[in-house]
Amino acid sequence: MLDQAKIDVLRSKKVAAAGLLIDGKVVPGSSGETLDIISPIDGSSLTTIIAGTKDDTNNAVNAAKAAFNDGRWRTMPPAARKKIMHKWADLIDAEALELAVLGVRDNGTEISMALRAECGSAASTIRYYAETIDKLYGEIAPTATEFLGLIHKEPIGVVAAIIPWNFPLMIGAWKLGPALAVGNSVVLKPSEMASLSLLRMGELALEAGLPEGVLNIVTGKGCVVGEALSNSMNVDVIVFTGSGATGRRLLEASARSNMKRCYLELGGKSANIVFADTKDLPTAAKVSAAGIFRNSGQVCVAGSRLLVEESVHDEFVAQLTEATMSMNIGDPLNVNTTSGAINNELQLTQNLKFVEIAQAEGGTLHYGGKQILKETGGYYMEPAIITNVAKHHEVANKEVFGPVLAVTQFKDEAEAIDLANNTDFGLAGGLWTSDLSRAHKMVRAMRTGVVHVNTYGGPDVTVPMGGVKQSGNGYDKSLHALDKYIDLKTAWIKL
Ligand code: NAD
Repeated sequence: MLDQAKIDVLRSKKVAAAGLLIDGKVVPGSSGETLDIISPIDGSSLTTIIAGTKDDTNNAVNAAKAAFNDGRWRTMPPAARKKIMHKWADLIDAEALELAVLGVRDNGTEISMALRAECGSAASTIRYYAETIDKLYGEIAPTATEFLGLIHKEPIGVVAAIIPWNFPLMIGAWKLGPALAVGNSVVLKPSEMASLSLLRMGELALEAGLPEGVLNIVTGKGCVVGEALSNSMNVDVIVFTGSGATGRRLLEASARSNMKRCYLELGGKSANIVFADTKDLPTAAKVSAAGIFRNSGQVCVAGSRLLVEESVHDEFVAQLTEATMSMNIGDPLNVNTTSGAINNELQLTQNLKFVEIAQAEGGTLHYGGKQILKETGGYYMEPAIITNVAKHHEVANKEVFGPVLAVTQFKDEAEAIDLANNTDFGLAGGLWTSDLSRAHKMVRAMRTGVVHVNTYGGPDVTVPMGGVKQSGNGYDKSLHALDKYIDLKTAWIKL
């Protein structure tokens, strides 16, 4: 149960100016420059973070490399490493509300979601990977009997994790959990729009006993800290979640520098398909509304394209609109809010621009699409439902990353598949039907990393998360994520 009174006490606390986390210590930046953190809740100045420099970044990378080379973490007995990671998860749980409120003040996600998807998910992810530490075996190859082929699984070295602003703790844990479990060192760069809760989570790792230098956190701008990491000759792997434009720069920097491996979790334009034979249309409408509008649409897998079979289009859009109208949009620290603030002013402006262009191109603004609660000083927007969207319209092709839903009608299965796959992205999708065979056929036909059937959303650490096409490569979550952080080494022995 969320306790509004406790949340209100926490929200009024002054937030101290943040430092960097390098080599086990909280340190000031080398230039003395800071960035103002503006809270999307009311546009007020929350605190400052360090504008990390190239030197700060290199210091963090050097600390990570030294920790890796001397083996203070990777050669620690598995049982001891596991204990530290479990303790870390326990500390996150113990401070969950504080972490959630701090994160919400920084990035605007509604507290009901932040507590579950941020702290809850971060702790359970760290625990999941802690459990792999003493369960991951090497292999013996089925060679001819005069040889023995041993396959060792080894940590790679220094991992740079670059994180976006929408779910910093959850996405941070998706990288830190497997990277640390197998013995790597990490330099983490949070988004400048959501650094505070990750910095605290890093401090908790130290408190839990993670040795100095194994986890370093450098805040600051992507074009400085992110560029320094991607161009570094001492970073072995980049694991990134964010936009395609930044992903492209990372690949270029890798090619220019040491050809470090780059794993990219990028954006999406996910199709949520509703067939006329859906058993419970009102529930489908409710879940579909949440699937695009929770966290103000700032969810990579958001079902931002709704494809509806002609015969139920009007009925379904009416139900969806009703479900949307019943959402509480506003102060993200109010426990009853179901969709909080847009993360920053620029993002709000871009969202509104998408609505304008969609109409200019022939879409119908069926509901919402306007800035609201201006008097608060924060960044809020009424969810937008745009109908009559054609497949060439910008709103059907570009990722908005905001509460904007593009609705298109289809005649039959073939057209639904064509529309769904008519995108450069391939992150997620959904479909609603009571026909089991159709569901399986559609799952096969949709070119995406995940297809939700008769539901939308619902993350679980046991299943992989990753995109195809321009939504990226590699997987977060599940045991498959470990592959990104492991080198295979063969010992080829003549007996
Ligand atoms: P972004 O690409 O602007 O920023 C992400 C991170 O990259 C930030 O830490 C930023 O500082 C850093 N960065 C920016 N420029 C850089 C550069 N030149 N070099 C290195 N790093 C740089 O993305 P964002 O706006 O923070 O996040 C929104 C995007 O993230 C959306 O496209 C969304 O779909 C995507 N996303 C994807 C997933 C997924 O799992 N696939 C999850 C969440 C968000």
